[in-house]
Amino acid sequence: MRNPIRIGVIGGSGVYNIEALAAVQEINLDTPFGKPSDAYITGTLDGIRVAFLARHGRGHRVTPTELHARANIHGFKQLGVKYLISITAVGSLRQDYAPLDIVIPDQLFDRTRHRESEYTFFGDGLVAHVSFADPFCLDLNAILYQAARTVGATAHNGGTLVVIEGPAFSTKAESRINRQLGCDLVGMTAIPEAKLAREAEMGYAAIAMVTDYDAWHETHEVVTADMVVQNLLKNAETGKQILRAALPIADAQLRDCVCLHALENAIVTNPAVIPPATRAKLDLLVGKYLPPT
Ligand SMILES: [Zn+2]
Repeated sequence: MRNPIRIGVIGGSGVYNIEALAAVQEINLDTPFGKPSDAYITGTLDGIRVAFLARHGRGHRVTPTELHARANIHGFKQLGVKYLISITAVGSLRQDYAPLDIVIPDQLFDRTRHRESEYTFFGDGLVAHVSFADPFCLDLNAILYQAARTVGATAHNGGTLVVIEGPAFSTKAESRINRQLGCDLVGMTAIPEAKLAREAEMGYAAIAMVTDYDAWHETHEVVTADMVVQNLLKNAETGKQILRAALPIADAQLRDCVCLHALENAIVTNPAVIPPATRAKLDLLVGKYLPPT
């Protein structure tokens, strides 16, 4: 059996690989929830084993709406990942979170609309309600913020990330309304990913890299794909530096937290009535909580 890998990294727009990885292996995985976006790249970074996945596939082939988010998370779970770091591009909804800044978000607001089938691992006769009040792992958040400071990034600790359906960016009206709702950042993928990571009992946190001021900003030019791409490239470099600084701290400090026990009191279905096929499909997630059949 392969050595389990405790830390996973899922790279968003602009982050399709980690060049510094050593002893690289590509692992193709199947899951009961379809195919992940790409092969998982495993290797070591400064001696620490990690598994990397390009969220949108290498070459950027999959829209946020099309993502098999469940398969992506299930694959990390198969590899043994307990803590998952997302590197993700976002727009800013506030003046002081400027393009090229780094934000470690601590809240999510869901405005996605077409992700029903990817929304949860549960259903088909097995109901579980995980706590999602704090959608990110606060232990991992603290480490990512510390790492961002260490590498000299302009970093902000905390913020509410609104997740829109995309793939088009927001209208001015949507952008203004998201600001009025109290959101600080806008992205397209943290829902359902963070929710699925919680259901899979992983600690999940994001290095959110600001590419632009979305569409609300009066004096700044409105967001264009070209501007986003240019800032993406600069941000990707910073994101990888933060990751590298965070890994040794995460490896040394993260042993256990509430995220790793999210299902302990969450399964409400009487085990006697769970359909065998559903139980089999969810075995990796719930098997340890159910009596043997
Ligand atoms: Zn946690």
